[in-house]
Order: sequence, then structure tokens, then C-alpha cells
Amino acid sequence: MTRILIAEDEPRISAFVQRGLESAGYATIVIEDGLEALDAVLAGDIDLVLLDVGLPGMDGFEVLRNLRGQGSAVPVIMLTARTSTRDTVQGLDAGANDYVPKPFKFDELLARVRSRLRETTPTGPVSIVQGDVTLDILSRRATVNGREVDLSAREFALAEQFMRNSGQVLSREQLLSRVWGLDFDPGSNVVDVYVRYLRGKFGHDRITTVRGAGYRWE
Ligand code: CA
Repeated sequence: MTRILIAEDEPRISAFVQRGLESAGYATIVIEDGLEALDAVLAGDIDLVLLDVGLPGMDGFEVLRNLRGQGSAVPVIMLTARTSTRDTVQGLDAGANDYVPKPFKFDELLARVRSRLRETTPTGPVSIVQGDVTLDILSRRATVNGREVDLSAREFALAEQFMRNSGQVLSREQLLSRVWGLDFDPGSNVVDVYVRYLRGKFGHDRITTVRGAGYRWE
């Protein structure tokens, strides 16, 4: 059975995540302290770690650096503050495989967990390739035709959503909840603004507006 360690000191969040993961068929362990979490992962028998940034004992970044420093390749998904792009960048630099900004929808977390568990080479470069566009998830680099494109953390997260679901229409609400977090103002036009940024960077034909429905990456 796949065992997931939930390193999270907020009982409300860990209980919610634990309930969801167990009903999805995973075994879980909740640990509230960073140092204890590190020991538990190093002791082995953990298939994936959900790692909060702000933990007592040792913070999430330190835990991650120690894990990677000691050669552990266990997939790690950081649970970051929604507004902190710095947390995201720092987490990926420290060797996180993915990040989920708080607050998140359980379904989104589950999708990330499944996709991380499916990857066969957790320490190798994780890239999404669509035609001439490549996103390297670990180094957070984007290229078009081999030419590097400079993206902010949010632009990168949005491009990632589009490319993981290319050919499908994604609604503004889906994009808001996946990229900006659950409690973002649903009336906000931030998605449209960022789609415009991405079109400017990747080319206008790449993202189609589907009237009344949302956007589709071609
Ligand atoms: Ca915390």
C-alpha cells in the first residue's frame, strides 16, 4: 500500500487531507514536527511527502534540503502559502517535485499526488512538452523552440495547467482555483489578464478563447 506522510501542524488541514487520502485508498501518517518528519522519511517506507512550509522543530525547506542532502529521492509536494511566490521558488530550488498553494481543493491535491506517484524518475527532470513549448517543472524554465521564455511563478503555474490539459477547455473558475487558490474572488478578471501575458510570451494562437466556457491550449 502506498504510504503518504502528511507533515502539517494545523490539525484542521491535516485531518481534511488525511480523510481524503484514506478514502482514495492511501495509507497516511500525520506528523506535526519537522524534525520528526525528517526522521520518519529517512527511516524509509514513505512513498510521498506532503510538506508544510511552516512547521515546528524544523521548517519545511530545511526538512527538504536535509532529505535531498542525504540522498532521498522521495517525491515531495510542498504546501505553500497562497500568496507567497517566494515560498514556491524556494521550495522548488530546495528539490520539491511540486507545490500546492493553500488553500487548495482536495481534488487538486489528489491529482498532484497521483501524478507525482506515477512519475518513474522522481529525481530526473520533469518536463511537459507540447509541440515546440517545453516546461521544465523542477527548474521552472520554459522554452519555445529552444528559446527561453521568462515567466513569473503565477504565469508558470497557469501555463502548466494549460499544458497538462492541452486540447481541453478550462473554465476561469477551474483556473482560479488551481492556480490562485480556492477563495479568490470569482468575479476577478485575473485569469484573463494572465492569459494575455501568456499569449504575449508564447504567441497569440497558442491559447484559444472559447466563448462562455473558458480557454483552451491548442
Ligand atoms: Ca504550518
